[in-house]
Amino acid sequence: MVSPSAAAPGGEAPAALKPAVDPATLAHKQLLGGAFWHRIPAYADVDEATFLDHKWQAKHSITNVHKLLAAVKGLVSAEFVADAEAGFKAAPMSVRVSPYLLSLINWEKPYEDPLRRQFIPLGSRLLPDHPKLGLDSLGEMADAPTPGLTHRYADKALFLPLDTCPVYCRFCTRSYAVGVDTDEVEKVPLSVDKERWQKAFAYIASRPELEDIVISGGDAYNLRAQQIQEIGETLVALPNIRRMRFATKGPAVMPQKILTDDAWLDALTGVVEKGRKLHKEVVLHTHFNHPNEITAITQAAMNRLFERGITVRNQSVLQRGVNDSATTMQLLVKRLGYVNVHPYYVYMHDLVKGVEDLRTRLQTALDIEKTVRGTTAGFNTPTFVCDAPGGGGKRDVHSYEHYDRTTGISVYTAPAVKPGRQFLYFDPIDLLPAESQQRWRDPAEQQLMIDAAIAAAANPR
Ligand SMILES: *Cc1c(COP(=O)(O)O)cnc(C)c1O
Ligand code: SF4
Repeated sequence: MVSPSAAAPGGEAPAALKPAVDPATLAHKQLLGGAFWHRIPAYADVDEATFLDHKWQAKHSITNVHKLLAAVKGLVSAEFVADAEAGFKAAPMSVRVSPYLLSLINWEKPYEDPLRRQFIPLGSRLLPDHPKLGLDSLGEMADAPTPGLTHRYADKALFLPLDTCPVYCRFCTRSYAVGVDTDEVEKVPLSVDKERWQKAFAYIASRPELEDIVISGGDAYNLRAQQIQEIGETLVALPNIRRMRFATKGPAVMPQKILTDDAWLDALTGVVEKGRKLHKEVVLHTHFNHPNEITAITQAAMNRLFERGITVRNQSVLQRGVNDSATTMQLLVKRLGYVNVHPYYVYMHDLVKGVEDLRTRLQTALDIEKTVRGTTAGFNTPTFVCDAPGGGGKRDVHSYEHYDRTTGISVYTAPAVKPGRQFLYFDPIDLLPAESQQRWRDPAEQQLMIDAAIAAAANPR
């Protein structure tokens, strides 16, 4: 046998086992740059410095449906506008779209666009909700010892200091809490309730087992610099706390803030540095769902965080027509790694009102996970999880006790979180075989399908 490193006869270089890849095919490195926002008539004259100014982005963010549709009227058909109007009517939600986000949508193909799908509902695409869907599908309120603090897992808790976001997503799990802004009036970044915060801090301090706090919301982007500092310094000073994460969708919808809101970034950096001195980890968690959300501007923003030694991890949601193909998910994962963001989780879509068209089957997650693992570093390979409805917490998608692909019911257990209980996830009904779709129309049949799944999970072959 000839070892691969042996010199070829005649002293030539050994033939490479893998031919070099054409750099043009390395799509994850090809980040959108230039003045792409000039495609939108309203921003045709906006120069780069203005577009990078987070204050300009915030001030020009669109916070109502009519203005949103007016902004794209020249770009899309009247049919699309009517469809979106119907969509918002059927699935009312708070609206906030930054000029940056608006500029990333391909308005020539608004029906297919992966960003449009996440933020703008269309009447023609809406599907009936799953009969087993409930508001607060994750049971966050049931696990809250004090308002806005969810203590579900042994050593970590989720703190929700505010209820506003830099964008409102159709698919938000916390639609029970976020988005209090009304149509016309944008409220001040939250009537942040200090008394509520104090109660949460006191609870955290009283629990020696708590080591890890997720600060989410709403969204940490909407905390003022001074509030980041206050929350960060209070928590990092607690002897029991070892780890903290500020969670924000911001980098995906307005990276400009990281580039130009020095007060905010300095406040975050200050907490990270304070943590480092105390040997405690403070990181940023964010939420990119599609490779198109990562541009040259994002890269500049992530570089700034990297230079300050701030770790960034990403949590995506698997969504139909957005990132539910192997190619798209591989590209997302590689592109995240390329800009120094660690892909941490890919979530099954929660059972949320009005977004059945965005959910996928569990099988899709199982298939995509298989194609993603092996494409890049293991530490940049996300774990695909299902946050089990009813408060079971996040489960590795592959770890189901039972999965009936015909009825779409999967059963999980969570021995470390809620021992002895079972948690069910439900595939979207429109993707099931016709016969199962029929059964789901009948409440008696629904119960039979659920009972069968639970029995099968309890008595594996
Ligand atoms: C997701 C979550 C956490 C953090 O869980 P990790 O798996 O460590 O990211 C903590 N508390 C609640 C309630 C959560 O939903
Ligand atoms: S940014 Fe997060 S919390 Fe806010 S609407 Fe979107 S998913 Fe919900």
